[in-house]
Amino acid sequence: MLTPDQQTAIEPFIDESTGLVNLLGLSMDKMTAFFAAIGEKPFRAQQVMKWIHHLGAESVDEMTNISKNLRATLKDIVEIRAPEILTQKDSADGTRKWVMKVASGNSVETVYIPDGERGTLCVSSQVGCSLDCSFCSTGKQGFMRDLTPAEIIGQVWLAAKSFDSLKPNSKRYVTNVVMMGMGEPLLNFDAVVDAMNIMRNDFGYGISKRRVTLSTSGVVPALNRLSAVTDVSLAISLHAPNDELRNELVPINRKYPISELLQACRDYMNDLPDTHRVTTVEYTLIKGVNDSPEQARALAKLLNDFPCKINLIPFNPFPNSGYEKPSMNAVKRFQTLLMQSDFVVTVRSTRGDDIDAACGQLVGQVQDKTRRSARYQQKSVESKRIKIVHSA
Ligand code: SAH
Ligand code: SF4
Repeated sequence: MLTPDQQTAIEPFIDESTGLVNLLGLSMDKMTAFFAAIGEKPFRAQQVMKWIHHLGAESVDEMTNISKNLRATLKDIVEIRAPEILTQKDSADGTRKWVMKVASGNSVETVYIPDGERGTLCVSSQVGCSLDCSFCSTGKQGFMRDLTPAEIIGQVWLAAKSFDSLKPNSKRYVTNVVMMGMGEPLLNFDAVVDAMNIMRNDFGYGISKRRVTLSTSGVVPALNRLSAVTDVSLAISLHAPNDELRNELVPINRKYPISELLQACRDYMNDLPDTHRVTTVEYTLIKGVNDSPEQARALAKLLNDFPCKINLIPFNPFPNSGYEKPSMNAVKRFQTLLMQSDFVVTVRSTRGDDIDAACGQLVGQVQDKTRRSARYQQKSVESKRIKIVHSA
């Protein structure tokens, strides 16, 4: 039983919807503070983190190195609750995709991409996205809500469990995490930082700073706060060599133009204690929109003295996007021109195509408060009508 003072002290950790403390989403600092609030020493936090994230414990009953008394006290006030897996699909190429139900009846998607010794998990941070990039199917659905830290780290926990890898001496499947699923991570700052801290912490998943990557479309004020709380790798969704085109593709550029975004990345890297870290520049190539040789040259000029590597992503079509995939020739030509200017340039291969797991194909279930998805669907109906009129 907790004393009235302890009851008050744990209030900041309680999830309003359940009245319980969800241990799954507590970073090491918060776990330590929670145990301090109930009169327990810091090593309890380490024990519980290990039980959950190293051994996959689903309840305090499993935590046999914790006294029965403490377990009984905890059972009344805590839970270990991840999202619910609605579906899990395996692609012929080894990619695995989950649709996970989160609180409020919505769902998000998570994708695991194996590549030799590496296994990258693409994690969602929000249900939908408010930023409405013109080529992104998540953006087309509008925004519903932020995920909690437990819902974000819960994707990693569930993925690892699906490979039976949260056991002593078992192979580690998730070696890398990219915050590139649904949502804009920097618009859900505190929850994403807590979850990334659990990924990084040795009592969590112990993944190195170079193997956890946050991708942002450019929320500059939040980016300016990032180095104070984490040291993960950074990717930015650039997609255009100038503000005019980027305003169209990535509307947040109207608020925070390219020059401000690049400066914020430089500042982030300069704040990190280690040198030689570079920003990954993501550039989704869309046929006839941003894939010409002139645009490749303009991009090379723009990034001339910006420490980066470039990742080209051929556009992945989705119904009624209004955009097309570039030809393989156009992709090669774009890559070659950038390489001739001494950039390191990779082309992201499409994985999990047969299970709709490629970039920009993640949809989940979003009940859009802003009605954007309704407008989008209406537009789709209208475009179909126009096509029918044309073909008649
Ligand atoms: N909101 C963040 C992270 C999620 S999007 C961001 O925008 O960076 C992850 C990456 O997928 C981004 O670079 C995004 O631009 C890209 N993407 C979105 N839709 C795509 C599509 N249809 N085809 C290819 N890449 C896409
Ligand atoms: Fe949101 Fe990223 Fe999609 Fe843009 S590309 S709408 S920021 S998820």
